[in-house]
Amino acid sequence: MSVWFPDEVTGLEALAERVFTTVRMNGRARTALSGTAALVTGASSPIGAATAVMLAAHGAKVALVARRGDRLEALAGQIHARGGKALALQADITEPAGATGVVGEAVERLGRLDTLVNNAGIMLLGPALEAPLEEWERTVALNVVGTLRVTHAALPHLVAAAEESSRRVADLVMISSTAGRVARPGAAVYALTKSGVAAFAESLRQELAPRRVRVTVVEPGTVDTELASDVREGIREAARDQVASIDQLRPDDVGEVIAHIVTRPGRVAVNEILVRAAGPQGRP
Ligand code: NDP
Repeated sequence: MSVWFPDEVTGLEALAERVFTTVRMNGRARTALSGTAALVTGASSPIGAATAVMLAAHGAKVALVARRGDRLEALAGQIHARGGKALALQADITEPAGATGVVGEAVERLGRLDTLVNNAGIMLLGPALEAPLEEWERTVALNVVGTLRVTHAALPHLVAAAEESSRRVADLVMISSTAGRVARPGAAVYALTKSGVAAFAESLRQELAPRRVRVTVVEPGTVDTELASDVREGIREAARDQVASIDQLRPDDVGEVIAHIVTRPGRVAVNEILVRAAGPQGRP
């Protein structure tokens, strides 16, 4: 369990309250996403949850996607309590029907799709020589194949939203990582997936620019989340020890970056953001 997110309900409530209060203090930003709909994968975890709350506070209707439906319902409740609109969609996006189903249901129930944040991901660290092949396959299944399936289903809706809306843009945000820029020992397949996501995004960016769909890659450094919880025993402790001594980003730092990207005026496209905690650990 994340240090930042010590209690699911208290953490969510504090997050929702802080974000809605901050955004409401800025009248212009509050309505930047009014009339739009967004889908955030991995919304049961702090980065996705923070992002969803940010987008809702800016006026978007938000579809929340992950496997843990209870967390999504709790998050939707917090957004509704503050006057926002959210839809909990429980799904496993490594299943073909799950990935395409959530996009279809979001569009059907929210009426459109202007913003997709591909955030769900896993990081199964460990030396390649000892790694179970199943871990490599599981990483690719979610970080690459699941992400591709959701994106494939969403693209026509993003293009339609960009054509129809008064904003004249739609947004596809891909969460990569510093590991997508520099591969390190023990993270070979994670780095493969994150650099692959960045390459995929850059190609889509060029293809979709004429259709006014903005594509952005976000590359966070270490963020205080549950990401290391799936790492196998022995390696997990070492990974936790490594991050215990360094400053980490908070999930809402990343959520705020994503909100900044998608609330830019239609003439501005932010293509890439590398965001790390300030401090001595800022290696490449
Ligand atoms: P977490 O492990 O905390 O969250 C992962 C999210 O993905 C959860 O909401 C989880 O929900 C969801 N998820 C996992 N498997 C599936 C699935 N099969 N179908 C649907 N949803 C799924 O990790 P983070 O919040 O840290 O990670 C979010 C993103 O940020 C990832 O892409 C990660 O690579 C990236 N990132 C994280 C960094 C960090 O330091 N934390 C640094 C750089 C990038 P559920 O279990 O309910 O399905």
